[in-house]
Amino acid sequence: MDIYDFTIIGGGPTGLYGAFYAGLRNMRTKIIDSLGQLGGQLSALYPEKYIYDVGGFPRVLAKDLVSMLTEQANQYEPTLCLGEKVLNLEPQGDGIIKLTTDQGVHWTKTVLIAAGVGAFIPRRLDVTGVAELEGKGIQYFVTDTSGFAGKRIVIVGGGDSAFDWAMALGPAAARCLQIHRSDRFKAHEDSIAKVSASTVDLRTFTELKAIHGETRLEAVTIFDNRTGEEEMVECDNLLLNLGFLTNLGPIKDWGIEIEKNVIRVNTTMMTSIPGVYAAGDICTYVGKLKLIATGFGEAGTAANFAKTFLDPSAKAFPGHSSELH
Ligand SMILES: Cc1cc2nc3c(=O)[nH]c(=O)nc-3n(C[C@H](O)[C@H](O)[C@H](O)COP(=O)(O)OP(=O)(O)OC[C@H]3O[C@@H](n4cnc5c(N)ncnc54)[C@H](O)[C@@H]3O)c2cc1C
Repeated sequence: MDIYDFTIIGGGPTGLYGAFYAGLRNMRTKIIDSLGQLGGQLSALYPEKYIYDVGGFPRVLAKDLVSMLTEQANQYEPTLCLGEKVLNLEPQGDGIIKLTTDQGVHWTKTVLIAAGVGAFIPRRLDVTGVAELEGKGIQYFVTDTSGFAGKRIVIVGGGDSAFDWAMALGPAAARCLQIHRSDRFKAHEDSIAKVSASTVDLRTFTELKAIHGETRLEAVTIFDNRTGEEEMVECDNLLLNLGFLTNLGPIKDWGIEIEKNVIRVNTTMMTSIPGVYAAGDICTYVGKLKLIATGFGEAGTAANFAKTFLDPSAKAFPGHSSELH
């Protein structure tokens, strides 16, 4: 039986940063992720988007942040098990925890659950023709921005994703129209101001009515939901940014205290099961903010307290990394 000190479920930004800290504390560490790549939501949902609120980076592409986090974690060579979904977590009563995945079994003394929002799927739009042309001009994610230059783009949505894509794709597009069903946006004020001042045609109280195109998207019909007035807009790409539906999946059945689909933790990030910690989007406490920056702090706290769980004589405070080399 190969028993690790610290096993991280989820290789998103939180899990990667937790792996770095666990390595710094000399814990033998493993990361298990159901996706075939590291980076969590950043790699799967928005690799080409800029992130503006990570300390030290005025702006950083999500995929670049993932590669730097990976480099930081890999200094300590954590074992990576990608494409493997954790199905069950069972404390064995002797200080060892058994993790069962869809590929096999892993043994560990402590666990960090950094599983984000669990499995995530985009909220789909119920307009005839959307499903048929998905991947043929209609998409929910952008993984490669290069194909959008010189194209006629329609973006649907009034949240951060829609505005971020309007800012990222608008300048190089032949034409970029962003529509939203009301005049209330859920995006950062600064993004709204930037898009409003740009060449992007931002229209409120406007919704999608119909899709046109046989084998590929050719045009959409939009309408003003106050007057009913319709307009056909020729376009090459339709980006739907309507948010995501999430599902915790198997984690709900692990006997951990869950509150509204997230895991309740104490101030050391420990869950209701001793030796099992949670950090990032998956965890909650009073005042929780679901941000990359908060996930970093929580992962550091979890890894350092896992160290004291493994070795009660160890200090939780890791010392200053600047003084280690
Ligand atoms: C479009 C978009 C834009 C965003 N922009 C920003 C931003 O600008 N700034 C910001 O701070 N935040 C932003 N966020 C939020 C940010 O991405 C999340 O807060 C962050 O990804 C949380 O990191 P995490 O590591 O906790 O979880 P995740 O990134 O969700 O990673 C969790 C990982 O766990 C894996 N996993 C889940 N269940 C299992 C299982 N049972 N077995 C194995 N693996 C499992 C998943 O596959 C995933 O890879 C944005 C989110 C979206 C969707």
